[in-house]
Amino acid sequence: MKRFRLRKKAAEAIKLGEKLITLEDFENPGDIQDAKEGMILWLSDPEQTYTAQAIVGRQNKGFAWVFSQDTSDLWSKELVKEFLLKAIERRRSLLGDETTNAFRLFNGEGDGVGGLTIDYYKGYLQFTWYSKGAYLYRDWWLEAIGDSDLDDVQGIYETNRYSLTSGEEAISLIHGERAPQPLVIQEKGRQYAIYLGQDWMTGLFFDQREVRDFVQTQAQGLSMLNLFSYTGAFSVAAAIGGASHTVSVDVAKRSLAWTQENFKLNKISLVDGRHEIRVVDVFDYIDYAKKQGINFDLVVCDPPSFARTKNYTFSVLKDYVNLAKELFSLTAPGGFCLMATNHSAYSKEDFIQEINLANQRFKGNMQLIQTFDLPEDYPSSKDPQSHYLKVLVYYRSE
Ligand code: SAH
Repeated sequence: MKRFRLRKKAAEAIKLGEKLITLEDFENPGDIQDAKEGMILWLSDPEQTYTAQAIVGRQNKGFAWVFSQDTSDLWSKELVKEFLLKAIERRRSLLGDETTNAFRLFNGEGDGVGGLTIDYYKGYLQFTWYSKGAYLYRDWWLEAIGDSDLDDVQGIYETNRYSLTSGEEAISLIHGERAPQPLVIQEKGRQYAIYLGQDWMTGLFFDQREVRDFVQTQAQGLSMLNLFSYTGAFSVAAAIGGASHTVSVDVAKRSLAWTQENFKLNKISLVDGRHEIRVVDVFDYIDYAKKQGINFDLVVCDPPSFARTKNYTFSVLKDYVNLAKELFSLTAPGGFCLMATNHSAYSKEDFIQEINLANQRFKGNMQLIQTFDLPEDYPSSKDPQSHYLKVLVYYRSE
């Protein structure tokens, strides 16, 4: 089989465990740029002393995913099954955890091949496809699920997040029955309402599970501000942990009913006014809180990487420093400020450095006391983008 030569640096990176290939990684991109989606490529270094195999799947991040460094492996039904069974094995502790019935089952390149993630929600699965090339092998994955020991799968949805051609649906049920609306899942004993089949955001981002655990264990007696709160997942964790007061802020109208629903599922009363849900722009809320002189014992900020609302544009890369400074001033002395980003191009080191810059400009004093990254069901490859989640917890000492 023809081997496509990679530039030296790219070949070295793959040897060390990176999996994503871009067109620029090839010695002669012109030879390969028209390759069909789903095509299997043999790759080598410039000296042809080393070989890897990759599958073509164009997506915003790249061109192909390495799935093996061994030419005797065949991209086949059996290999797909092997990847899936290994992924299931890796999650045995979560599968056996009676307090948790929703988590990531297959995490793309971290579980062997990129282009696909599979999430498990209490007997329902959601496949998310990131390239046409990955999608072409859908039937193999479905068969592998059928052959696995996951014997409670009642329905499978898929979400296509690559550019679609007409006739392809973005979200659809592809196997079994529809999930109840909502489907109530449990995460470490917390209940959350999930809506499958409607939007790619289904109500809960599993990758913050351990951070919610942390918030829950720290929250006793604290007041909490949750910015970019979406369905209030962090606020619910804080309320269960005994927070005296929470304020959830999100500009999207859907967040109100959904957050109320999550509080109710956890038997937390909303009638006594201890848990406020505000449908407003975060930046307007910050101005309001500053003017009112309100501060909080626990500030949680988990924004999208980029957002444009009616009056504001926010980009994690450009604007987090300024935002962090505001968050620090809303944190009561003796309180915590927790900041997250899932921007894949923002390294943990850079994020810490930027936030420290905000600290220098701040009149109080913040100390970094803890960091979190991805949990066990989100294994990553050596690609820098693969371990995308960074969470920093600062303590305000003065
Ligand atoms: N922190 C959430 C996930 C955030 S998803 C969690 O724990 O699950 C991103 C959310 O940010 C969306 O719900 C979106 O409506 C909200 N958002 C984006 N820009 C905003 C802004 N300027 N003000 C308030 N909310 C915003």
